Amino acid sequence: MPTLVNPKPKQLDDYRKVIGEEAYQEIVELAKPLAGKRVLHLNATASGGGVAELLYTLVPLTNSVGLVADWAVMDGAPDFYQVTKTMHDSLQGAKTVWTDEMWDTWRRYNEITAKGIDVSNYDYIVVHDPQPAGVVSYARDTESGVRTRWFWRCHIDLTDASQEVWETIRPFVEQYEGLVFTLEEYVKDGLRGPEVFISPPGIDPLSPKNVKLDNTARYKVLATAGIDPERPLIAQVSRFDPWKDPLGVIDVYREAKKQVPGLQLAMVANVASDAPDGWVFYEKTLRHAGEDPDIHFLTDPMGLGNDVEVSAIQTTADVVIQKSICEGFGLVVTEALWKARPMVAGNAGGIRMQVIDGETGYLATSNEDYVHRVLGLLGDQETACRMGEAGREHVRKNFLITRYLRDYLRMFNRFAR
Ligand code: UDP
Repeated sequence: MPTLVNPKPKQLDDYRKVIGEEAYQEIVELAKPLAGKRVLHLNATASGGGVAELLYTLVPLTNSVGLVADWAVMDGAPDFYQVTKTMHDSLQGAKTVWTDEMWDTWRRYNEITAKGIDVSNYDYIVVHDPQPAGVVSYARDTESGVRTRWFWRCHIDLTDASQEVWETIRPFVEQYEGLVFTLEEYVKDGLRGPEVFISPPGIDPLSPKNVKLDNTARYKVLATAGIDPERPLIAQVSRFDPWKDPLGVIDVYREAKKQVPGLQLAMVANVASDAPDGWVFYEKTLRHAGEDPDIHFLTDPMGLGNDVEVSAIQTTADVVIQKSICEGFGLVVTEALWKARPMVAGNAGGIRMQVIDGETGYLATSNEDYVHRVLGLLGDQETACRMGEAGREHVRKNFLITRYLRDYLRMFNRFAR
């Protein structure tokens, strides 16, 4: 039985000033014909990772414009999350072993989840990512005549997806009415059936993580973590996951520290509840950092890694790194750009939409690139400031969550009965 999540209410009116009158009115108009329509978002976790982050705002904002939105999280067990992690990795291009037994596990949990949803309660169901992608096949209500519209929102970069795993879930994916991808290039060739929509995610400019943090709170976080505010700081905020290359971040820091001896590194990181090997990788990262007193971890086992710590570090860092090898979108990049921080980030997937090389930050492909760019920005305040400001404007125009809400409303209108 999926568990309902109850995010705190939010009001679109509060966003009016940040997004401007035109964007605000557009959302209000799009919502009018959808008044009272019932929406369910279904995903795999309520904590850790970008999808949960998005739903904490998207769901209450959908409610605030007159629809009735729920958010449910599937109840998996460790064997299921082990399988879905492999599925996720292979869809991002990793070489993995995919067995019939894993396939059975995935189907079984999708069937159990489907049985726990009363489909007749909803006009629209949005299923996020591959973990629950099969639910549509077991939950579609064909008898009561209720016509729920189903959408699959794929947050990952499928460009290098394993053909075998993709072909496994493809028959499920083709049962949806609509598919939503972050980038056109993620759409697989030859999809038959669903209509395809492109809509990158966005951040909530009013969430505690993204509003301006007062200095008292900021210095408190720095003091708790043992960071010296007088010395230069670089940072990465990300789950413990090889795709985010935290070990590589430490290598880059070590190389840069040879030129800037006072340099410090902050790593804000949590372990998502649907990532069973997160702890193993956490230990590995700690070992790689060794005894260096200038590497600071702010993690959930330490009771850190929450909104305030993320905000404090993203606001304070002289340069923010996002050393992702593959990244569907990368909300952490958006969050740092919104705080007008200069970024050096991986030349990967959704990061490329956000970090315009040389304008809103730098894209890097090798450790040498990262070191070169980090040192360049540390030594050139003017460029760092200019890029930071350009990054914030880029986010304001393109990557706020209200634009994401607008895209969903447009899509629902297209499928209105
Ligand atoms: N995050 C957090 N605490 C942490 C690490 C990450 O709150 O210790 C948040 C981060 O601020 C962002 C989200 O988790 O909002 C990660 O989303 P992103 O799209 O960057 O990556 P994903 O984890 O979904 O691959």
